[in-house]
Amino acid sequence: MPLVEDCVFCKIIRGEIPCSKLYEDDQILAFLDIAPFNNGHALIVPKDHHHSITTLPAEFHAKIMETACKVAVAQMRVLKAEGFNLVLNNGRCAGQEVPHVHLHVIPRFVDDQPIFKASKKKYDSIEEMQKTAENIRAKLSE
Ligand code: 5GP
Ligand code: ZN
Repeated sequence: MPLVEDCVFCKIIRGEIPCSKLYEDDQILAFLDIAPFNNGHALIVPKDHHHSITTLPAEFHAKIMETACKVAVAQMRVLKAEGFNLVLNNGRCAGQEVPHVHLHVIPRFVDDQPIFKASKKKYDSIEEMQKTAENIRAKLSE
């Protein structure tokens, strides 16, 4: 899908909005998030406008992850981060604000608070868990 007129990340890719660029090639642009969870928080953005990772051509998937790993290593060395989170919010209910696929690379330090505050749930029974797996497995093999 070509770049889109009113998409903020397409505007950054086209150079219409400035960014603090980290890396660029013909498929990917990586830059700093304007409202970071931590100093150095980066966004890895494919140069193809898709709302969802599921419709983004697969050729971008490996490239996004490869770039994220390189950025994460550079963040840890430069910022002395102890680790990092890779976060991809897909869909509004998942917290996606910008409808152009992007992977967050968030450097993390020992005293950081958890980013995800939602509490974990429990299955009512092992059967319910097995049934859920069975249903998803069946869909995967369609
Ligand atoms: P989402 O919630 O969609 O996963 O994350 C979108 C991210 O894009 C947010 O963390 C937000 O701070 C960042 N963002 C939104 N607009 C801009 C912008 O114009 N420039 C930069 N560098 N980051 C932006
Ligand atoms: Zn876009």
